Amino acid sequence: MTTHPLDRDGPVAELQDPGSIADRLAAVQPGEVPFSVEFMPPRDEAAEARLWRAARVFERYQPVFVSVTYGAGGSTRDRTVRVTGELAENTTLLPVAHLTAVGHTVDELRAMVGAYVDRGITNILALRGDPAGDVNAEWIPHPGGLTYATELVQLVRDLGDFHVGVASFPEGHPQAIDLESDTANLVNKLRAGAEYSITQMFFDVDDYLRLRDRVIAADPEQGAKPIIPGLMPITSLRSVRRQVELSSSTLPAALEERLLRAAGDGPDEDRDEVRKVGVEVTTAMAARLLAEGVPCLHFMTLNFARATSEVLENLGVRVTPGTGRA
Ligand SMILES: Cc1cc2nc3c(=O)[nH]c(=O)nc-3n(C[C@H](O)[C@H](O)[C@H](O)COP(=O)(O)OP(=O)(O)OC[C@H]3O[C@@H](n4cnc5c(N)ncnc54)[C@H](O)[C@@H]3O)c2cc1C
Repeated sequence: MTTHPLDRDGPVAELQDPGSIADRLAAVQPGEVPFSVEFMPPRDEAAEARLWRAARVFERYQPVFVSVTYGAGGSTRDRTVRVTGELAENTTLLPVAHLTAVGHTVDELRAMVGAYVDRGITNILALRGDPAGDVNAEWIPHPGGLTYATELVQLVRDLGDFHVGVASFPEGHPQAIDLESDTANLVNKLRAGAEYSITQMFFDVDDYLRLRDRVIAADPEQGAKPIIPGLMPITSLRSVRRQVELSSSTLPAALEERLLRAAGDGPDEDRDEVRKVGVEVTTAMAARLLAEGVPCLHFMTLNFARATSEVLENLGVRVTPGTGRA
């Protein structure tokens, strides 16, 4: 009989480690365009099919990693674990599992990490998460759980040789007192053992550059760790407004104007025109970020492959013949 790695005290002894994001980023060669993509766990069969179509498209562009989100309030727990596991088992992609502390006791979080270990997943994005139902509601930790992401970083690290990433916020986290304390929080998460951060989506490259400067100024050693910019190629005005609301990011007025014009006056927005603007804007942002030496571009895809692949093609990324698993 085998014992589950987390059914006993102490750290997980042996992990089958597929490699870390930080190591992969360190191996990037000059001239390459390192990128990653974010998926959401699908709600139904049609969404499931779309996710796998997108995964197959991206597989041929060879991203550094793919990540799978954890539904608000832990609502997609089983689907997130299943999809992340299937990506690890059935594709050539390296998956990162998002994990939030919302609604979980410490024991449940340990069991979640165990479920990932069982599927060969050692890369985890450790997040506090937001209250279920209303992301802007007051954060009340689970009585038997954790309060801040720093504690989740520590918990996961104590369980074994996991590679942990965390969230960062170019415009500051909406509940942070000020940018200084928000920067200090990010530095604390990195000091606790996180190897990199992925930013919240943003539309002003200067916000990202200022975040990077703040972290380097606060702690040069932690500031040397990758801060991966999160980019959302816009494909729909309605959808981006919703995403901006959920993430408390700013959609600049001039960009919203352009999107409104592209969407037109019809009863339904002109998605083709909106997507064209989205691809153009994301390509320009990505090109500037690459010129600024970012370690990787993280595309929040909502499981759509087309806009992100157009951005990749614009940046000179091409599918590699013979890649992907048959
Ligand atoms: C790349 C990315 C991916 C994400 N994926 C998901 C996902 O899959 N599922 C999901 O539900 N959500 C996700 N989120 C959203 C995230 O869970 C929320 O933004 C959440 O509100 C903050 O999470 P955190 O890990 O940054 O929390 P924390 O780092 O804990 O910070 C939360 C707040 O507490 C403050 N704080 C931290 N420590 C202290 C302290 N000791 N004292 C006082 N204040 C403190 C911080 O400044 C901040 O305001 C993601 C966000 C990003 C950027």
